[in-house]
Amino acid sequence: MKVMENMVEYGHEKVLFVNNEEAGLRAIIAVHNTNLGPAIGGCRLWPYASEEEALFDVLRLSRGMSHKNAAAGLQFGGGKAVIIADPKDKTEKMFEAFAEAVNGLGGCYITSEDVNTNCDDALIMARKTSYLCGTPAVSGDPSPYTAIGVWQGMKAAAKVVFGSDDLKGKTVAVQGIGKVGYDLCRYLHKEGAKLYVSNLHNKETLKKAVEEFGATAVDADKILSQECDIFAPCALGAVVNTETAKQLNCKIIAGAANNVLLDEAAGKALKELGIAYAPDFIINAGGVINAAGEAAGDYNEEEVLKKVYNIYNTVEHIMTLSKETGTPEGVLATEYAESIMRGEQKA
Ligand code: NAD
Repeated sequence: MKVMENMVEYGHEKVLFVNNEEAGLRAIIAVHNTNLGPAIGGCRLWPYASEEEALFDVLRLSRGMSHKNAAAGLQFGGGKAVIIADPKDKTEKMFEAFAEAVNGLGGCYITSEDVNTNCDDALIMARKTSYLCGTPAVSGDPSPYTAIGVWQGMKAAAKVVFGSDDLKGKTVAVQGIGKVGYDLCRYLHKEGAKLYVSNLHNKETLKKAVEEFGATAVDADKILSQECDIFAPCALGAVVNTETAKQLNCKIIAGAANNVLLDEAAGKALKELGIAYAPDFIINAGGVINAAGEAAGDYNEEEVLKKVYNIYNTVEHIMTLSKETGTPEGVLATEYAESIMRGEQKA
C-alpha cells in the first residue's frame, strides 16, 4: 500500500510509524484532520495479519473520527492509533512506549481506549502522557452516553419517518445487547417500546433483558430479518450490504455500531427499499462527546449531556434532507461533516 498516495487521497495530515523493539511495540498513529482542534481517537490493539491491513484500518478509522467529531460539534479533529499485537501479549512497557510516541506528536493527537484496550491500559498510558482522555476517574465509561445518543437519534428518526418521536408501541430489534445495547433497551422499555433482542455470545445478558424489559429473545442469525419498526445494530459493523438489505423487515435502521453499511451501494439499496438510515457516526457520537469533555480540560457532565441530546437535531436535519432530496443519509452526513471541517458551517 502506498502510504503517501493514500494520505493524499483521504486528506491525512500525518502518519507516524512506531517500532520499539525493547517494549515490543509496533504501532501506527494517523492524524487525519486538525482544522477544528487536536485529533481525538482511540487506540485499537489488534493482531493484524499484515502491516497493510493495519495501515488501511488506521487511515479509514481516523478519517471516520474527523467526521464524527465535526458533526458532533466538537472542537477536535480526527485521529486513531493501532497497535499491531495479540491482546494476550499486552504489557505495561508496550503502553508506556505507546504513550511516549503520542507525546512525540506534540499534542496534535489525543488518545483513548478502543477495541482491546481498556481503563487499566489507559491508566498505564497516563503515567507517561497527558494527551489522553476517557480515563476512569474523569469521564469514565463512554457507553452510557453512547446509549443516550442512540436513543435520541432513534426518536428523531421516528419523527421523520412516522411523524412522531414517541416510541410507545413501536417495535425495536436490537442486534447485540452489550454495554450500549443494554442501556438503550432500558430507555426504550421506559418509553413503552416492544423489544426483540439478540446476543451471539452472552446468554446471561439476553436472559436479563427478557426478565427486566419483557423483551423477546431472538436467535442471532434471525434478528436482522425480524419484523419490526426499527432495527438497531449494536454489535458489529458492515451488517448491511446490498444482499442483507433485502432481508431487512424494518422502516428505520438506528443503532450504535460503527460502519453499519458495508459501502455506498448499501446506502443506495436502503433508499430504493424505502428504509431510512440514521447515519452511524452521527447517532453513536455520545461516547466521544463524553471523552472530548475530558480532553477539553474542564469536564462538565451537564455540558456533555447537552451535546449528546443535540444528536436528535442533527439526525433529524440529515434524515429530513435525505427524505426531501432522495440522497442517501450516509452521503449527506459525510458532506455535512466535511463542510464543518472546512469552516463553511457550524454543527
Ligand atoms: P459490547 O462488546 O459490550 O456489546 C456487543 C455485544 O454484541 C456483545 O455482547 C457480543 O456478544 C454481541 N454480539 C457480537 N456479535 C453478535 C452478533 N452477530 N449477533 C448478536 N450479538 C452479537 O460493545 P458495546 O460497547 O456495547 O458497543 C456496541 C457497538 O457499538 C460496537 O460495534 C461498537 O464499536 C459501537 N460503539 C460503541 C461505543 C461505546 O461507547 N461503547 C461508541 C461508539 C460505537
